[in-house]
Amino acid sequence: MFNTLSDRLTSVLQNLRGKGRLSDADIDATAREIRVALLEADVALPVVRSFIASVKERAKGSEVSQALNPAQQVVKIVNEELVGILGGETRRLNLAKTPPTVIMLAGLQGAGKTTLAGKLARWLKVQGHTPLLVACDLQRPNAVTQLQVVGERAGVPVFAPEPGNGVGDPVGVARRGVEEAKRAQHDVVVVDTAGRLGVDEEMMRQAIDIRAAVQPDEVLFVVDAMIGQDAVNTATAFRDGVGFTGVVLTKLDGDARGGAALSVREVTGQPILFASNGEKLEDFDVFHPDRMASRILGMGDMLTLIEQAEQAFDAEQAEAAAVKLGSGQLTLEDFLEQMLALRKMGPIANLLGMLPGANQMKDQLANLDEKHLDRVQAIIRGMTPAERDDPKMINASRRLRIANGSGVRVSDVNDLVNRFFEARKMMSQMAGRFGL
Ligand code: GDP
Repeated sequence: MFNTLSDRLTSVLQNLRGKGRLSDADIDATAREIRVALLEADVALPVVRSFIASVKERAKGSEVSQALNPAQQVVKIVNEELVGILGGETRRLNLAKTPPTVIMLAGLQGAGKTTLAGKLARWLKVQGHTPLLVACDLQRPNAVTQLQVVGERAGVPVFAPEPGNGVGDPVGVARRGVEEAKRAQHDVVVVDTAGRLGVDEEMMRQAIDIRAAVQPDEVLFVVDAMIGQDAVNTATAFRDGVGFTGVVLTKLDGDARGGAALSVREVTGQPILFASNGEKLEDFDVFHPDRMASRILGMGDMLTLIEQAEQAFDAEQAEAAAVKLGSGQLTLEDFLEQMLALRKMGPIANLLGMLPGANQMKDQLANLDEKHLDRVQAIIRGMTPAERDDPKMINASRRLRIANGSGVRVSDVNDLVNRFFEARKMMSQMAGRFGL
């Protein structure tokens, strides 16, 4: 995500390191390079202009800090300006005082609306809500079935027109969907609407009619971050035609040049509420401008990582494992549990990608082989509980049995067991040293 932009900005800012004082010429040169980096990332020109103007003004101005050196001050200013164009504060979803809260999704076909409906429904459920999905995309063949599939995966019911009843009437379906939510006491309704390949009058008309019929608390404009400048144009057309209260960026996992993400808030004046970064239901999160800016500047996103870890790991279990680890008692069973919890947080490369400096190790991340982890899991699963508990008992004939059972070579089993012993020894030594 934003790799190219992130690389460019990090290297521009690194060039300032070690300078005792920045002259106006230094600042101008840096500003020029940042400008090129932003334009290459497809950020809209007016946004780039105002961004550069404020960075320059602030860097040359009287913002002198005792604590920071000149290079750090520029990084701080660029960071704050980035947070600013991304919307400043995190904007939370508006919930209706009297449920149900109605959320309408709109956007071009292929933007990722239907996928997003599933992601949002799953997220709402995790937050303790009881969402209902309503299928009003009656334009695209299969859109209704697709919504039913994602609904099922998210464990959320879907209200859809019955064959022969309401198939041509998305406004009626939306209205009936909201009524159904009231009746069945769902506290949030997510209405998926039709998209087109381009903005057209009929699409706008339909969206306006649905909006008028269900009076949503939020109209979320879903936009594919990979389409660059077009995203901004579509968003503007949509804002003027139908109006929306917030933006959802999708496909941030592609090496999108990122311009859409950086421009859409500033150009439309509406905040970004959520971001999607993958095809799976859990590849979705609240959009935090400060965390995103930090990632773009190569400073990592530790807060998101910690939050994901809190969701994936059971605190008591983790504590028990830590104690065992310190005393050299960790078993392969504990190891498997920790590994499964870690992998629940998403692809390992994504997790490592949130660490500070991740853009410097992106080649290694790209080569990271999840299949290796699958193999390790398969080997441990091929062991009996007694073997997992006391790996010392795994002799040659047991190794052969495990290898055959899990479809790997004996040398793979040897490798895993040996490494496990080494790691266990090292960790208990480390724990001793840190007094754990
Ligand atoms: P809709 O026409 O707006 O409803 O779009 P869909 O939800 O059908 O999505 C279009 C395509 O984009 C599908 O193949 C999705 O799997 C894919 N997609 C949606 N969101 C993301 C995302 O965040 N990342 C990636 N890589 N693909 C996505």
